[in-house]
Amino acid sequence: MADAVVVGSGPNGLAAAVILARAGLEVEVHEAADALGGGCRTAEVTLPGFRHDLCAGAHPMAVASPFFRAFDLELHGVELLAPQVSYAHPLDDGHAGLAWRDLDHTVDGLGRDGAAWRGLFGPLVRDWEGVVGLGMSDLRHPPLDIPTGIRFARRLVEQSTPLWNLRFREETARALLTGVAAHAIRPPRGIPGAGVAMLLGTLAHVRGWPVPRGGSQTIIDALATDLRRHGGKIVTGHRVDSIDEFDDVRTVLLDLAPAEFQRIAADRLPSGYAAQLGGFRYGGAACKVDFALSGPVPWRALGCDRAGTLHLVGTRAEAVAAEKAVAAGEHAERPFVLAIQPGVVDPTRAPAGKHTLYTYAHVPNGSTRDMTEAITAQVERFAPGFRDLVLATHVRTAATMPAHNANYIGGDISAGAMTLRQTVFRPVPRWNPYRTPLPGVYLCSSATSPGPGVHGMNGLYAARHALRHEFGNRTDPLDLLRAIY
Ligand SMILES: Cc1cc2nc3c(=O)[nH]c(=O)nc-3n(C[C@H](O)[C@H](O)[C@H](O)COP(=O)(O)OP(=O)(O)OC[C@H]3O[C@@H](n4cnc5c(N)ncnc54)[C@H](O)[C@@H]3O)c2cc1C
Repeated sequence: MADAVVVGSGPNGLAAAVILARAGLEVEVHEAADALGGGCRTAEVTLPGFRHDLCAGAHPMAVASPFFRAFDLELHGVELLAPQVSYAHPLDDGHAGLAWRDLDHTVDGLGRDGAAWRGLFGPLVRDWEGVVGLGMSDLRHPPLDIPTGIRFARRLVEQSTPLWNLRFREETARALLTGVAAHAIRPPRGIPGAGVAMLLGTLAHVRGWPVPRGGSQTIIDALATDLRRHGGKIVTGHRVDSIDEFDDVRTVLLDLAPAEFQRIAADRLPSGYAAQLGGFRYGGAACKVDFALSGPVPWRALGCDRAGTLHLVGTRAEAVAAEKAVAAGEHAERPFVLAIQPGVVDPTRAPAGKHTLYTYAHVPNGSTRDMTEAITAQVERFAPGFRDLVLATHVRTAATMPAHNANYIGGDISAGAMTLRQTVFRPVPRWNPYRTPLPGVYLCSSATSPGPGVHGMNGLYAARHALRHEFGNRTDPLDLLRAIY
């Protein structure tokens, strides 16, 4: 029998498994799907030769996270390609806000608001490792870096109160920032949205928002190869239905949402803890639509053709209205659409001359609506002629997401609403959110702190606790990752 079992092979499950295997344990990963990777997979879902990222597509967090920096993705063959423009936000007047990797370039492009943009992000960019240390901490032991904490907190307060309207004078910068805050799939003016905007907005000007050559799956393949090299075993096509299957294993790490944990361990959970898990809320969702295109998207605004990611919704007011609608359980008439065009840096995603476009629209949890037409209309709004380029589409509604990945309840791609409470107490109000009341059983999914994204930190924290408490091994997981053997 293995020393450790990991249930689920998303980036956090594999991050935990790699650490445990490098610590010398016998590790087994059990994955429900036939392919590894959870929210970090790539597949041909439209036409032959068109490779689409099924969930995560852009990787500001992977390139910056302590886990992946220590693991060293490049060393493991993953080529992270950063577009010149990290994200763009086109407007109806035919121009776009552009967040260039180069902060100075961004400032120049924002005209009268350039200095204010520099004032917001300049200090965070200079101190980006401190920002990452804070934003990707387990929120229980944040680094004792008081200047960074104050800098970050001041901006959180500003961007989560009516003060957010005072920083910029023009719509371009306002909309540009609001597009990043909307990643939380919450009304953007709030602490979770502001936190996301400060973290991702800072990283945009550091190493950018890269896409991996060949697709996000290459990140997973690198982790799986490393795991096998250290003796780990992987079983796919096995949906674990009861935690009793692993009764004689010393530790079990669950890359699962609380609802799935409850399903497989229901009768063993103490009632108080089960009630806390039952109170965990799932939030706004996504309908994912992938396009195979006969050519690049004909953006009207200059600079959008250099952007890896685009936020398609229009003004700040429109973004706020769209997210409020979703929070109220309604479909926005013109929804927030996130688009990624990997072809700007990675020609391997489509046959020569052709392109892929990755999109999703924010929708209410559990939505059964096919958003292909609404998304097409939002793209066409900023790129007239787009419709004529579409060769094929593939849609995954919010309601069908759990059939692909049980963690995305109702299509909630964050595996739990990013409310303020659930950002801090994720998934339950315990000092150690990874350790569960079941002996040797830990949670390691994005439903724990520090939340969603391909950064591997939830897996790292859970593995650290499991090593310490179950095996008395106090080695820093980052040292295990840095050791090349
Ligand atoms: C549409 C979409 C777009 C996204 N875009 C981005 C992005 O651009 N950048 C970014 O950084 N992040 C993005 N994310 C978020 C990111 O993908 C997730 O936060 C991340 O994958 C979470 O990793 P995880 O390991 O916690 O869980 P997951 O990746 O969700 O993996 C969980 C795994 O557990 C398996 N599983 C579940 N139940 C069982 C069971 N009972 N038995 C066995 N296996 C089981 C699932 O099949 C799955 O493989 C996106 C997510 C989605 C869905």
